[in-house]
Amino acid sequence: MVRFTVLASGSRGNSTVVCGGQTRILVDAGLSCRELFRRMRAVGEEPEKLDAIIVTHEHQDHINGLAVTARKLGIPVYFTEATHRAWMRWLTPRRQMSYAQWLEQCRKQAAERSVEPSVAIEDEIEEPEAGMAGNGDGSLPGAAAAASQVNSNGAARAADSAGGEAAPEEKKPWKDDPTWLPSVEYFQSGKPFTIGDIAVSPFTISHDAADPVGFVFSAEGVRMAMATDLGYISPNVKAQLKRADLLLLESNHDLEMLRDGPYPWSVKQRVLSRVGHLSNEATAEFLEQGYDGQAQYVILGHLSENNNLPELARIGAERALAGKASLLANRLLLACQDEPLSSLQF
Ligand SMILES: [Zn+2]
Ligand SMILES: [Zn+2]
Repeated sequence: MVRFTVLASGSRGNSTVVCGGQTRILVDAGLSCRELFRRMRAVGEEPEKLDAIIVTHEHQDHINGLAVTARKLGIPVYFTEATHRAWMRWLTPRRQMSYAQWLEQCRKQAAERSVEPSVAIEDEIEEPEAGMAGNGDGSLPGAAAAASQVNSNGAARAADSAGGEAAPEEKKPWKDDPTWLPSVEYFQSGKPFTIGDIAVSPFTISHDAADPVGFVFSAEGVRMAMATDLGYISPNVKAQLKRADLLLLESNHDLEMLRDGPYPWSVKQRVLSRVGHLSNEATAEFLEQGYDGQAQYVILGHLSENNNLPELARIGAERALAGKASLLANRLLLACQDEPLSSLQF
């Protein structure tokens, strides 16, 4: 059975569960782990059965609960390498400090060391290393592979606890390294791969992130395409969205509402730009002219709470789809921020 469940969609958090065959994937983890689990249970999905998390891009509304969820379930996270690095930078930002502040910090650290000589170097967060991630061949790593992601911090900790007399209760690796994940797998945009029974086809979207992607997921002959967070629909994205049985597409803002709305001009410019978000108008234009009309479900997502109204998004899309003659296809749904959409089954 193939199921597609949007748990949340919008600038306060995005997350979707895709199930096919025996495999279950969480696409983005933009809500807290607790809220993700709550919503999954509310729609009849068991969080414990998730096999992997896959990430579209590193913006906060897509990764808020990522680390906690992956650790709690002990499952791999699939990123592009650039997105993984951007996510790590987000978790361990380099602090900018003046020379005077730096001197002060050195003085404090020296003072702390003289009081507490046992504080070892492993407390420092090391620069993440290249190549610490998985093999990127798309295969699901087993438990052994999951445990194998040990960076230099991990090695230091292992040596540390081996040497200690009273075996301390198991140290949590992320205490020292906030970027620690049970396992990381890399994929590349444009290179299809599989996670268990689900074929994944990642494609590049135009958005102001390190390496943002949309996905087409295929299982049991069902194609599910997702493209949110994109400034415009490029010819390649158009091609990817063909023959989809389900289409989740961004309908972020109403142009007039955005122009007249509360955002500062610089933010308006960003949203409107080629690396921003799709307007209702752009989405409607695609649905009318670029879309093949084959999807059973068309879901509008990532609606702005400040610059859009669900009815405006719906009316624009309905008008655009009116010419697509099929009674069974093109059922229009709106994904929302605060509650999950009920599971769509094939
Ligand atoms: Zn984004
Ligand atoms: Zn977003």
